[in-house]
Amino acid sequence: DWLIQLRDVRVAYPGGIEALQRTQLNVAPGEFLVLLGASGAGKSTLLRCLNGLVDATDGTVNVHGLQGGALNPANLRAHRQRCGMVFQQHHLIGRETVLANVLMGCLGRYHALRTLLPWSRSDKLLALEVLDRVGLLEKALVRADTLSGGQQQRVGIARALIQRPTILLADEPVASLDPATAENVMNLLHHICTHDRLTAIVSLHQVALARRYADRIVGLRNGRVVFDGPPAALSHEL
Ligand code: ADP
Ligand code: ADP
Repeated sequence: DWLIQLRDVRVAYPGGIEALQRTQLNVAPGEFLVLLGASGAGKSTLLRCLNGLVDATDGTVNVHGLQGGALNPANLRAHRQRCGMVFQQHHLIGRETVLANVLMGCLGRYHALRTLLPWSRSDKLLALEVLDRVGLLEKALVRADTLSGGQQQRVGIARALIQRPTILLADEPVASLDPATAENVMNLLHHICTHDRLTAIVSLHQVALARRYADRIVGLRNGRVVFDGPPAALSHEL
C-alpha cells in the first residue's frame, strides 16, 4: 500500500513556468526518499504539493488517502499536522528561547486564539523530549540566536517532530550548512526517521549526501522525474 501517490501531476505557476510535468510517484510507508536535483528542478514544488501548499494544475495528489484538491479546511489542518515540515531556513525567533521556538510547532494543532494562552505542561514536556532527541536539551532555555547554524537546524527538526507527524518533508534542510555539519544533520534526520518509522521525503542538491542516506533517490530535472531507484543504480552524470 502506498502512503503517497502522485498521478500525472503537472504544476504551472502564473507566468507559464511548468514546475512539474507528468510526475508519477508512489511512496511506501517508512521510506527515506531523497529528491535530488539542481535549483529550479521542481523539488520545492513537489514537497508543497504533498502538504497542500500548492495545488496540482492537472493530475492527482493523494496522501494518507486524502486527495489534494478535495481537502476541506478541517482536513487540510489535520493533513498538515501529519506532515512535519523542515526548511533550509527556519526563521527562528532569535530573542525567544529554544524551547519557545520548538513550541511554535504546536500551533498547527491550535486555533489562532490558543496562541494567546500559556503553553500547557504537557506541551512543554513534549518540547523538552523532542529537544533531547535532537541533542539540544541543555540549550532549552537559551536564546535561539545564540545557536550555531547546525543547532538551529536541529531546532527546526524538533519543531517538526513536536506535532508527531507520520511524514517528514524536508526542503533542502542542509543547503546552508558546511559539509561536516550537513553530514551531522542528515545523520540525525535519517536516524530519527528510521527509528520512528517516519516516511521521509528530503530534497537535496548534493549527490554524495543523497547516495549516502537515501533508501531511494528520485532525480528531478526541469520538472521531470529523470531517475527513480536505489542509490546504487544512480548513474554518475546525474
Ligand atoms: P529554491 O530554489 O531553494 O526552491 P528559490 O530561491 O527558487 O528557492 O525560491 C524561493 C521562493 O521564491 C519560493 O517561495 C519560490 O516559490 C519563490 N519563487 C521562485 N521562483 C519564482 C518565480 N519565478 N516567481 C515567483 N516566485 C518564485
Ligand atoms: P527547486 O526546489 O528544485 O529549486 P522549485 O520547485 O522551487 O524548484 O521551482 C521550480 C520552478 O518553478 C523554477 O523555475 C522556479 O523559478 C519556479 N517557481 C517556483 N515557485 C514559483 C512561484 N511561486 N511562482 C512562479 N514560479 C515559481
